[in-house]
Amino acid sequence: MYKNFFAGQWIDGSDAMDNINPSDTSDCIGQFAMASKLQTEQAIDAAFDAFPQWAKSPLQQRSEMLDKIGDEILSRKQELGEMLAREEGKTLLEGIGEVVRAGQIFKFFGAQVVRQGGENFDSIRPEVDVAVTRSPVGVVGLILPWNFPIAIPAWKIAPALAYGNCVVFKPSELVPALAHALTEIISRSGIPAGVFNLVMGRGDVVGSCIANSPKVHAISFTGSITTGKRVASAAVARMAKIQLEMGGKNPLVVLDDADLDTAVDCAVQGAFYSTGQRCTASSRLIVTSGIHDRFVKALSTRLLQLKTDHALKKGTDIGPVIDQRQLDHDTRYIQIGIDEGATLECGGEQVFRDTEGFYLPPVLFTNTHNDMRINREEIFGPVASVICVRDYDEALSIANDTTFGLSAGIVTNSLKFSSDFKRNVESGIVAVNLPTAGVDYHVPFGGTKSSSYGSREQGEYAKEFYTSVKTSYTLA
Ligand code: NAD
Repeated sequence: MYKNFFAGQWIDGSDAMDNINPSDTSDCIGQFAMASKLQTEQAIDAAFDAFPQWAKSPLQQRSEMLDKIGDEILSRKQELGEMLAREEGKTLLEGIGEVVRAGQIFKFFGAQVVRQGGENFDSIRPEVDVAVTRSPVGVVGLILPWNFPIAIPAWKIAPALAYGNCVVFKPSELVPALAHALTEIISRSGIPAGVFNLVMGRGDVVGSCIANSPKVHAISFTGSITTGKRVASAAVARMAKIQLEMGGKNPLVVLDDADLDTAVDCAVQGAFYSTGQRCTASSRLIVTSGIHDRFVKALSTRLLQLKTDHALKKGTDIGPVIDQRQLDHDTRYIQIGIDEGATLECGGEQVFRDTEGFYLPPVLFTNTHNDMRINREEIFGPVASVICVRDYDEALSIANDTTFGLSAGIVTNSLKFSSDFKRNVESGIVAVNLPTAGVDYHVPFGGTKSSSYGSREQGEYAKEFYTSVKTSYTLA
């Protein structure tokens, strides 16, 4: 039984959940504690009580602690990468890549701790000095999804601690093992009791308690729009600070002058790697008519070569989807696409392997238009559709015709079109001749429209959320 961690103690849950390997449903990774509402309140109390001391903690202490956490994650990348592949279904290479990213993020914020500074201004009043400084926000509640079980926790926990906040971390019910492993590493870093707390359990119990607690000063949420809105309403009702990262329906535009291999690589990586379970996945491939047929042929050929199998098996390109519920959701959308009149170019059915898992090879729809539900609603699986357009102007207009705005990409050799696209596409992230998924850790991450709400995550921009600004006036 893997326990929760709060007030510096490992504590049994009021209930437990099985953590099942999506590549092999006979493989139970372990039983993980599920906290009750009362236990969640106790964890929040622990964070609340620890905050005044932690807010004053020496920067050198915080910096060394975060750096040490980063070092341990990096030194255990193989083992943690395997655990990630086993728990979430990313391939081993993808799992190791994600673990390395988490380690890099902790080390980045370890260094950021000692780069904190304020600003001085001349006053409009004589003999007055003005200083702008930043203070920690307080107790930060982190409510997280399952698709990046260590990278997303890292990019919220590391800045929260770096800027002097206490953390209550609620991972997704589907990926508690990585959350638990990360907590063990953090608990050994010399962190004072109560500063970091892990509360595993149900969204409507633990998540809801965090969202509604008057002792949680700020909430950073990543997940679906439906849950995000619920969490935001609770937070705003009590005037807590809130940041939301949610879904996407990200366009990848391919123009006639594109290098075909680059276009296919971007589509394969962006739409199908990590089993398409990425908020930045290129689920709409918007292709101009001059290259359309060649692109579809080359892409389908590549997709048919990809091996969908056990995430830990050598040679697997695409791991399973996360669980039966997600598989049902994906197959329901495949049927919706067929019913809407789209052509199923590749895939479309669950496949069976040596072990019982949720295997869905890449699905490519062609002959689709942007009004179809498969192009308007987030599917969050290995499913993408091609939309054929006349020219660049129509491509841009369709790229922007969505309620989402997280990431967007264009494949072209034209400086004119790539510059125009960077300027006019309505998204928080733009990729030129690169996949829409795949970002750096030292620069801002986030979207526009209904993909995101509040300030950006990651890099130095993270301080906007994890600190509050104070302006002081002093008569000299
Ligand atoms: P989800 O919304 O179902 O769950 C997210 C978290 O909210 C989980 O921890 C869940 O337990 C919790 N939760 C559920 N009900 C709650 C409630 N009533 N109150 C408080 N918390 C509650 O999302 P998911 O299925 O885990 O993740 C997939 C979604 O996440 C996709 O939409 C994807 O696009 C999005 N996502 C976005 C980003 C981004 O940065 N934009 C990154 C990764 C995933």
